[in-house]
Amino acid sequence: MVEIKSVEYAYPGAKAIQFTDFKLAGGEHCLLLGESGSGKTTLLHLLGGLLRSQQGTIRIHDTDITQLSESALDHFRGKHLGFVFQRNHLLQALSVRQNLLMAPFLAELPQSEERVNEVLDRLGLLNRKSAQVRELSQGQAQRVAIARAVVNKPDVIFADEPTSALDDKNCERVSDLLLSVASEQKATLVVATHDQRLKAKITRQMVLPA
Ligand code: ADP
Ligand code: MG
Repeated sequence: MVEIKSVEYAYPGAKAIQFTDFKLAGGEHCLLLGESGSGKTTLLHLLGGLLRSQQGTIRIHDTDITQLSESALDHFRGKHLGFVFQRNHLLQALSVRQNLLMAPFLAELPQSEERVNEVLDRLGLLNRKSAQVRELSQGQAQRVAIARAVVNKPDVIFADEPTSALDDKNCERVSDLLLSVASEQKATLVVATHDQRLKAKITRQMVLPA
């Protein structure tokens, strides 16, 4: 469950962005739409606790994350949330395997080679396990980013423009994988995008006003 009430955020010197209240059930998938600059990335960062909300409540399951201390929030994020960013934020000089093992390490969860293999296999990347990220194509790298987002079995996955940089074929592949992996793991999924190609795939949609 993901629910926000009366959330707003102001960058220094700028007018506050006010977000409409919403509630997603556990396992629900939702598309976050809106013009560039409407606040999609800001909202995802608030939902993931990467930005601290200045107003309102953000509940993920039974936790109002606005009430957590920095360290409790880090812990919560590592255990419950997964992120896929537009540019993949992978460590370029490390191998695919090392990038995936980093996620449980940072969340203080046990590192499992078996889980890494399972996720890579699911995303069609097992044969790239030992490759360095900089050796991958853009589509492969974005699939590794999904792998990293799901390796800790998060309850909620946030994806920020995950397909915008991809051609049609890779867009199709990456979005289908993201949706099916989220469904298999019964994760709630929130995808921010202006990518028209995703609109047919996720029926629940929220549009942020410009
Ligand atoms: P979107 O992802 O929908 O394009 P953003 O959340 O990135 O929108 O931006 C929302 C608004 O906040 C925009 O007006 C943007 O210029 C502003 N903004 C975003 N990030 C920052 C920042 N780090 N500092 C100041 N203003 C920002
Ligand atoms: Mg954005």
